[in-house]
Amino acid sequence: MDGKIHATVVLFVMKEAEKLLDLKRREMVETLKLYGITNRRVLDAFLEVPRHLFFDEKAVDLAYDDGAYPVGYGQTISQPYTVAFMTALLVERCPSGKLLEIGTGSGYQAAILDALGYSVFTVERIFELYEKAEKLFSRLGLNITCRYGDGTLGWMNEAPFDGIVITAGAPKEPRSLMTQLAQNGCMVVPIGDYSSQQMTVIQREGEDFQRELFQYFTFVPLVGREGWDDTVF
Ligand code: SAH
Repeated sequence: MDGKIHATVVLFVMKEAEKLLDLKRREMVETLKLYGITNRRVLDAFLEVPRHLFFDEKAVDLAYDDGAYPVGYGQTISQPYTVAFMTALLVERCPSGKLLEIGTGSGYQAAILDALGYSVFTVERIFELYEKAEKLFSRLGLNITCRYGDGTLGWMNEAPFDGIVITAGAPKEPRSLMTQLAQNGCMVVPIGDYSSQQMTVIQREGEDFQRELFQYFTFVPLVGREGWDDTVF
């Protein structure tokens, strides 16, 4: 095959693959609707962010299944339904402003929050994941600020936050993080034991905190000073 024809064929195959991924992404959003995610802004963000870019190339085919998937170092990219459920809780209570995510992982949840127009700060405790996500954000031109370290202590210099999302399972309410919420700010955090955690919304009202409880999920553990002990994991 001459070089020009070869290049044309490659381009055609790439375009078809891209179209298939777009189709799968739309199907994923239809599944989210069937599962009860109705918030239009959230659904639009899921249509906009190409989830497959947060996967290893060899696993791209799995990117639009409604499942969690390993991202290395014993961690996972959360199931789309879980990300959508948490995002909807946040959007409905705190529609705009400055957000802190604890547990960058693949970077997908942070990219969804960025697509929703929030100013996003995210912390990751595994250096390799932090570095990979930061590179990906800059390649995609996303204005997301990353930090490597123990997110259970929050991000003092950037506080207060209008919203905080914890994408790992906490053993108890993370007090330091709660004090970094702005007035009326809200935190979405799964709290429980190692095997399952109840999705919890904590909203700040003055020096008081109101709680709302939702269904149970299973997350990888939040490990750190105000999380699980890091000698256990
Ligand atoms: N939001 C991620 C989900 C990743 S899983 C995504 O969209 O892909 C949870 C992540 O939390 C893991 O990468 C884990 O390393 C990280 N994590 C656990 N404890 C942490 C802590 N104390 N500070 C920061 N990150 C933490």
